[in-house]
Amino acid sequence: MDSEWRQLHLFFFPYLAPGHMIPAIDMAKLFASQGLKISIITTPLHASLVSKTIEKSKTLGFKLDVLIIEFPSVQVGLPKGCESYNMVTSPDLRKKFMKAAAMLENPLGKLLQEHRPDCLVASAFFPWTTDLAGKFGIPRLIFHATSFFSASTYECLRLYEPHKNIPSSDSEPFIIPNFPDEIKLTRKQLPDFFTQNVETGFTNLYKQTVEAELTSYGAVFNSFYELEPAYADYYRKVLGRKAWHIGPVSLCNKESEDKVQRGKEASIHGHECLEWLNSKEPNSVVYVCFGSMANFNDSQLMEIAMGLEASQQQFIWVVKKEKSDGGKEEWLPEGFEKRVEGKGLIIRGWAPQVLILDHKAVGGFVTHCGWNSTLEGVAAGVPMVTWPVAAEQFFNEKLVTQVLRIGVGVGVQQWVRFFGDSIRSEAIEKALLRIMVGEEAEEMRSRARELGKMANRAVEEGGSSYSDLNALIDDLRSHAMAGETTDNN
Ligand code: UDP
Repeated sequence: MDSEWRQLHLFFFPYLAPGHMIPAIDMAKLFASQGLKISIITTPLHASLVSKTIEKSKTLGFKLDVLIIEFPSVQVGLPKGCESYNMVTSPDLRKKFMKAAAMLENPLGKLLQEHRPDCLVASAFFPWTTDLAGKFGIPRLIFHATSFFSASTYECLRLYEPHKNIPSSDSEPFIIPNFPDEIKLTRKQLPDFFTQNVETGFTNLYKQTVEAELTSYGAVFNSFYELEPAYADYYRKVLGRKAWHIGPVSLCNKESEDKVQRGKEASIHGHECLEWLNSKEPNSVVYVCFGSMANFNDSQLMEIAMGLEASQQQFIWVVKKEKSDGGKEEWLPEGFEKRVEGKGLIIRGWAPQVLILDHKAVGGFVTHCGWNSTLEGVAAGVPMVTWPVAAEQFFNEKLVTQVLRIGVGVGVQQWVRFFGDSIRSEAIEKALLRIMVGEEAEEMRSRARELGKMANRAVEEGGSSYSDLNALIDDLRSHAMAGETTDNN
């Protein structure tokens, strides 16, 4: 057996959305740092960004490359260049996007045929990749881009359907059955494919995802054992799934320039951001950001602005708006930016999130509870105000507020796909003060800080995630060698 063959070659095939792409690139860098060869398969729009992000790792000698497949946007009736899920904002476009994503099977199959990698790591939203990998005799690892807690919640809802036994109201809480902790949810907080009898575009995809997981080789989690031990055990031992935890993967970005490079080009220069933060006291700034998907209408943004101002806390607030050229911005109170000058910074567009969160001046995080953001907040050791919108964000909120007790909810009750619930400025102000000022805030901060330390230890040599990553690599190596032996016989 030659030594070249022994270098395992993995294909990474992340879903075409920042919340999947960003951690998948970090993960790819992590595997490459352990001596594996990694190819990231993606479409032209993402390819240039991915290439830029992995440039430095490549100059360090890591084996990473990008293989491009075309996304059939125009073919399904999407605008040309519409290749990222955060670019679709209506149910019709969403259906088309999902159709186009399913059409990637052929081009991916061609690449598998040509390169014959040892394993395919693919997003949960590409359920067909399990069978495709099977055709090439290689394992498919599933990447959920969420926590053990939320993956277990999904599974218990599917198995026991507790939400179907609540006749009276969508707001009536029910308990997740057979769960390690007593966690209550309401029907209003569940993704629509649990509560609606009509096909939402996700109903079938969800079913296929569940089936594909049962037959795939296992799942890889961006999490660490010490964060959710009861749920990592529950998922593996009670639900009987094979899974490895290798996170927080964002911690592979050690230098400021790596942290700035994640996701899109940031709308603010890294230096400018650091300079602003350097002028602040430790734990004195709240960072407010709702990820790459969630949007709010102008009246909700106005309430956020008023809540921030009333709380008298310093802040960095990320808003998905362009800067207006001099005209009035309907989503901001009159004179807002002048009044908060020096105290508050609005980033319009994309923020270097990890760079900001990791700064010692940041003492709190208002988050929509996307799993990446949640884990980045944990790794930075900051308490959070939870403001879930869609996906499994209401589940992650429970983990933060009830299990870890490092955050408080702003009070959102209703799951929506894209546009957030209407929360009044008074509730925002109150939640901000609870995580920033007083005894309760200090207690949460000290728990969050401990978790942050554990997160950093988990990815160091000998840590739980480092060990699980190597256990997974050993497993894949044995699998590949067993395949080779069979082929030779
Ligand atoms: N992110 C960022 N800058 C922004 C918004 C988001 O760097 O202005 C990153 C964030 O650090 C995280 C990802 O985008 O890694 C968002 O993923 P998450 O799971 O939190 O939420 P989603 O966007 O999938 O709802």
